[in-house]
Amino acid sequence: MRHRLQCACLAPDGFSVDDVKVVANSIQIQLRSRQPSRTCPDCRRVSRRVQSRYVRRPADLPLSGRLVQLIIVAGWFWCDAVLCGRRIFCEQLDCDVLARYSRRTQRLETIVHHLGLALGGGPAAAFANRLMMPVSNDTLLRVVRRRIADRSDDLPVVGIDDFAFRRGQTYGTIVCDLERRRPVSLLPDRALDTSRSWLAQHPSISIVARDRGGGYGEAIAKALPDAEQVADR
Ligand SMILES: [Zn+2]
Repeated sequence: MRHRLQCACLAPDGFSVDDVKVVANSIQIQLRSRQPSRTCPDCRRVSRRVQSRYVRRPADLPLSGRLVQLIIVAGWFWCDAVLCGRRIFCEQLDCDVLARYSRRTQRLETIVHHLGLALGGGPAAAFANRLMMPVSNDTLLRVVRRRIADRSDDLPVVGIDDFAFRRGQTYGTIVCDLERRRPVSLLPDRALDTSRSWLAQHPSISIVARDRGGGYGEAIAKALPDAEQVADR
């Protein structure tokens, strides 16, 4: 059975493809939302009256070795509700596809985020560029930080380790929730006082996994004397 690539499969959920162009070493995919109407964020009244259009041009996952840029035509809409104080409102795109003000789709940011966690700042940025996902070191670190929710609630089991902002030059500390398998904080350095202060603010921690180096062990012992330490290598 033969399968043809459908243009529609290039679009994130909720969007239709209007046009696809190859421009130099990139592919431009023009999209529009499949949502037939928009809802005023204040009064929840539905509107189809367009006041004006605007275009967003986020980067998306690469395709066949080329950069991909989405061209999303969105609109400003009139709100006709008599008692609503808002005259016009901006079309809100699905945050799971493209966050407000973001220059990258969420699916691209997810890959960048995982590269940042796995490799650290500089090497991850270099590797992302090789994968046709150009991103600066600073941007990559911003993506990692933005996605780390500094949770202060129930955190019984954590892991603590070095995180390379620039390998061989600048290191911070990453703390992960080992039960939910996700990072919870990125500390700016590896100083004992920094990690001790953060740990002391999270008394719910009862088990900490760390490497066999002495620094984190001392911080844990001072901040959480009752916590069990597990040296993982
Ligand atoms: Zn309204």
